[in-house]
Amino acid sequence: MKVTEHIANAKGNTLFSLEIIPPKKGENIQNIFDHLDPLMEFNPPFIDVTYHREEYVYKKHPNGLLEKKTTRKRPGTVGICAALKHRYDVDPVPHIICGGFTKEETENALIDLNFLGIDNVLVLRGDAIKSEPKFTPEPGGNDYAIDLLHQVKGMNEGKYLDDEMENANPTDFCIGVAGYPEKHFEAPSLNSDLKFLKQKVDAGAKYIVTQMFFDNQKFFDFEKKCKEIGIDVPIIPGLKPFKTKSQLSVLPSFFKIDLPDALVDAVEKCKDNKEVQEVGIEWGIQQSQELKAHGVPVLHYYSMGKSSSVQKIAKEVF
Ligand code: FAD
Repeated sequence: MKVTEHIANAKGNTLFSLEIIPPKKGENIQNIFDHLDPLMEFNPPFIDVTYHREEYVYKKHPNGLLEKKTTRKRPGTVGICAALKHRYDVDPVPHIICGGFTKEETENALIDLNFLGIDNVLVLRGDAIKSEPKFTPEPGGNDYAIDLLHQVKGMNEGKYLDDEMENANPTDFCIGVAGYPEKHFEAPSLNSDLKFLKQKVDAGAKYIVTQMFFDNQKFFDFEKKCKEIGIDVPIIPGLKPFKTKSQLSVLPSFFKIDLPDALVDAVEKCKDNKEVQEVGIEWGIQQSQELKAHGVPVLHYYSMGKSSSVQKIAKEVF
């Protein structure tokens, strides 16, 4: 079922959902199940599975020369989606990205997903790889999320890359996109970023999932601005339980988000990460309860493969 249908069927009740990351290459899928099993009591109608490109690794030879190798550290998104469908009564939502993939490779992945009966995709650009200062599109790939969205929409209309193909089977993916309450870090202003978000919605995106934020007011302001410029699709807030002291610097620098002073003060006072986790759970409960009272369609948790904080938050909220 499509994410938008789940939201419509909920008739105004807030749904629980989450995002998972494929295990590192060579790890067992059981890790995913061990993480998800305790969360199934909250009946997530859909679960997002992130998509990852290859990264460059430099291998030093005894002669001193460096060899550049590429490796995809987290393959398996399509397989995990199939496994989730098999094991649980949920709709997996694979992410697909522009970076690192040609249009042909993307089309092949979408064909697999269609054959597996996957109804939704979250369409994203992807980030720059560590060794490059800025995002570089793959030759023969898509530049921006909107270009990838056009590709998926084309397939929904029976248009595959092969022009010669007649009577092609149209797909029927419900397409979601990302939004940034604190603006995407490359955008010169929030208004500029919102202009491109509106373009994605006008081009066919049916819902938006936001980047994590820790100050609900940022989400409320974002939602208001979206409405003002005519974005009228469901906006799903993304929430991450705060867990470690190191996240005080990691989250702002990696995700380009602000942390509220009250959260920073509370975390700084903690003796160890066990205490930080408790602070993160309490913060997550407060954030979730306020957003739920506000009437958000879904609370979407970035669980990062660990269920305990999400479980404790969800127990208080759902
Ligand atoms: P876009 O919408 O393409 O926007 C990128 C930037 O370009 C923005 O600054 C925007 O304002 C600007 N822009 C947009 N369109 C145009 C245009 N036509 N012309 C000029 N400028 C434009 N990354 C992964 O690698 N794998 C994942 O699974 C993944 N999942 C994510 C899930 C969520 C909910 C979120 C919020 C992010 C996720 N990311 C993931 C990270 C994401 O790929 C990065 O944030 C990336 O830098 C931007 O992706 P986007 O789809 O928002 O890009």
